[in-house]
Amino acid sequence: MVAVIATPDRETSEFMAEAVRDVTLSGRSCWSLGIIFAIEDTKGNSEMRKGMREVNPASKPSGDGCVECLASPKGWLFHLRRCAKCGHIGCCDSSPSQHASKHAATTGHPIIASFEPGEDWFYDYEKRGMIKGVELLPPHSHPDDQPSPGPAGKVPANWESLLH
Ligand SMILES: [Zn+2]
Ligand SMILES: [Zn+2]
Repeated sequence: MVAVIATPDRETSEFMAEAVRDVTLSGRSCWSLGIIFAIEDTKGNSEMRKGMREVNPASKPSGDGCVECLASPKGWLFHLRRCAKCGHIGCCDSSPSQHASKHAATTGHPIIASFEPGEDWFYDYEKRGMIKGVELLPPHSHPDDQPSPGPAGKVPANWESLLH
């Protein structure tokens, strides 16, 4: 480069102009590509980070039954769900009060896990689908001796007709 600049003639300066233009062009296209990759990378990472933020692997289940149903004299439920972020235990969407969905809607905690014995799945209310790769601390279900529907003594005789 220095040698070329030291002998400026018409051909050389034209060559230089071309070279500079090439560098500028390729530089710009590289730069744009870099930006695109950076945006995609940030988007992918932020989605992943967001997903991670919605799960707190160290959170503990709030109890053996739906927080709201247990607090209500007439509360009963079919199945239990566990919030993957704070551990809130709420009743499922088939239950009369749907406290797990309500918890997700009011807190913005979108991921739940089943809290039923033998069930091992996670659901994301935002994505409206099952998700994988989430681990939470045990217990992963309510005790086997707790009936479903439950709690015992609070379930009306016509409970099946009251399911959603
Ligand atoms: Zn409930
Ligand atoms: Zn929660």
